[in-house]
Amino acid sequence: MATTSNKNAMFCYQCSQTPEGGCTRAGVCGKSPDLAALMDTLIFGLKGVAAYAHHAREFGKIDPEVDGFMHEALFATLTNVNFDIESMLGLVLKCGQMNLKAMALLDAAHVERFGNPVPTEVPTGTRAGHAIVVTGHDMLDLEALLKQTEGRGVDVYTHGEMLPAHAYPGLKKYKHLVGNYGGAWWTQKKEFDAWPGAILATTNCILIPKDTYADRLFTCGVAQVAGTVHLKDRDFEPVIRKALQSPALPDRPGGKLVTGFHHTAILGVADKIVAAVKAGKIRHFFLVGGCDTPGMSGNYYREFVKAVPSDCIVLTLACGKYRFNDLDLGTIDGIPRLLDIGQCNNAYSAIQVAGALAEVFKCGVNDLPLTFVLTWFEQKAVAILLTLLALGIKNIRIGPCLPQFVTPNVLGILVEKFGLTPVGDPIKDLEGMLAAKA
Ligand code: SF4
Repeated sequence: MATTSNKNAMFCYQCSQTPEGGCTRAGVCGKSPDLAALMDTLIFGLKGVAAYAHHAREFGKIDPEVDGFMHEALFATLTNVNFDIESMLGLVLKCGQMNLKAMALLDAAHVERFGNPVPTEVPTGTRAGHAIVVTGHDMLDLEALLKQTEGRGVDVYTHGEMLPAHAYPGLKKYKHLVGNYGGAWWTQKKEFDAWPGAILATTNCILIPKDTYADRLFTCGVAQVAGTVHLKDRDFEPVIRKALQSPALPDRPGGKLVTGFHHTAILGVADKIVAAVKAGKIRHFFLVGGCDTPGMSGNYYREFVKAVPSDCIVLTLACGKYRFNDLDLGTIDGIPRLLDIGQCNNAYSAIQVAGALAEVFKCGVNDLPLTFVLTWFEQKAVAILLTLLALGIKNIRIGPCLPQFVTPNVLGILVEKFGLTPVGDPIKDLEGMLAAKA
């Protein structure tokens, strides 16, 4: 129940009010924990939609239907005392539909401005020189920084969800975009601590910095952290100056990561993929990705991918991929077995690939030899999960743990309607998924 006891009253943990005393959720948490759970799901999903819609808006792309739904759905959370579970579930699924539209809008914006991504090897070492590492998701910020650092003797590296930027022709053309540093959002404190240069945070998921690097961390756009400098209007001169004043990076060899398997790249070799499926050389596709969760529980995904048989392909996206994207899974008939589609918003690409395969094989997406194995941690992951559910995709595995706001009854509904299943043991899960589609 989403309330906490305090003397004789029950206070909502979110709005600190009693159900009768001005609770911002119309007292729903005190009356129906399940309705409150669905309302939370809707609110978190809306935050994800807002992120994608905001990015698209920065490119000048707006969808009035998405905006209208945001207003309607938020309003509904204020006024829905008479709603029932089914009505709220309808809104939750509509949030998923609107998220698909927002992701499509953002994908079109990226492609129109930067071109279709192409598979690209990204070095993970560093080269000698002053540098800025860019984290977050905002490609326009990265482009502006690349323009402003050109010819200034400052290299630019990506971090976390910025990795897919290397695959866009309009960004990879900058010779001083030299590589990727670090992994998922939650490892940033250790990584930025060890990074001698300047740091630019463009969006979530930025953490409150350690004192050791707070003076080298700059934020922009919606990202702001107390005690650091916030830059406006994409004027990155202060972070460039800081990079030039900071110690240079060493020449340090590293490995490589591969990204850029946008749906246009995958569907460009669709004939090859279809032929390999028909010849029995590709048995199954797994989409393994999402928002990485801190701690050991996320190792599930590495163990899972390591155990995937050699006749299966792993598609991935978002920062959950850092659990396993250093693995060399080899190829099947020249097709890489590990295909990084891109950022979390590129779930749109994954959906395009699934739809195209279903068309070729004349079946529904649920009949394809394809299983979604998702990791979720924050609001965008909620929005993406709702999109997949709204599209009718069944038997998704989700983990490494369920969000606290999902009550047993709501989980029961999701299991009954969609076959949504929490992850368990990676090897047993894998065997079960393969057996279910054998
Ligand atoms: S994929 Fe999710 S958890 Fe990772 S940086 Fe993006 S929004 Fe944050």
